[in-house]
Amino acid sequence: MRLLVIEDDRDLNRQLVTALENAGYAVDRAFDGEDGHFLGDTEPYDGIILDIGLPKMDGITVLEKWRADGRKMPVLILTARDRWSDKVQGFDAGADDYVAKPFHMEEILARLRALLRRATGHAKNELTCGPVIVDTRSSRVVVDGNAVKLTSHEYRLLSYLMHHQGRVVSRTELVEHLYDQDFDRDSNTIEVFVGRLRKKLGVEIIQTVRGLGYLAAPPEPVKAR
Ligand code: CA
Repeated sequence: MRLLVIEDDRDLNRQLVTALENAGYAVDRAFDGEDGHFLGDTEPYDGIILDIGLPKMDGITVLEKWRADGRKMPVLILTARDRWSDKVQGFDAGADDYVAKPFHMEEILARLRALLRRATGHAKNELTCGPVIVDTRSSRVVVDGNAVKLTSHEYRLLSYLMHHQGRVVSRTELVEHLYDQDFDRDSNTIEVFVGRLRKKLGVEIIQTVRGLGYLAAPPEPVKAR
């Protein structure tokens, strides 16, 4: 899952990006409304954290423009504690949730998990596919009851496919949702990651759909003869 943080306070921006990266997300950042609007308009983010008070273009305007152009990604706005009107304006402009400053990072992470879960049609933080369970709270992966250690890239790949279980996901889509802007993107590396992931999981839940991409689905039951 790939996120965008738009926050002009440099310290806060860095804290958010670090916490989100540690939680297993690919993260891009912007420090003013214009840059943030442009990124949200041109890159396919799974979720965006948007400050309301921003230089060059305020957060409400950024959000209104995205929604007017049909951009549907989940957006969590950051508001000032005493500005209830920010929240009302924010929701009316198309925000999906808000957190008031100052906040606890855990709350941001929990609200984001909820937004991503809802956006992909899941009810729980635990995603299950056959014998594989991904816990998005702890970024832990369990296969047949045994913990499996994955690198952050492998985790992101598995988590994305599991969030979109039952749907064929193209390599291009994976590249766009697994790497941040600064990463040297190469869709051939996806194949390598899928290979490593399959090996580590040891069960067949990722199918290759020739010419189209990859599909996460429970393993086929062994047919009785
Ligand atoms: Ca601000």
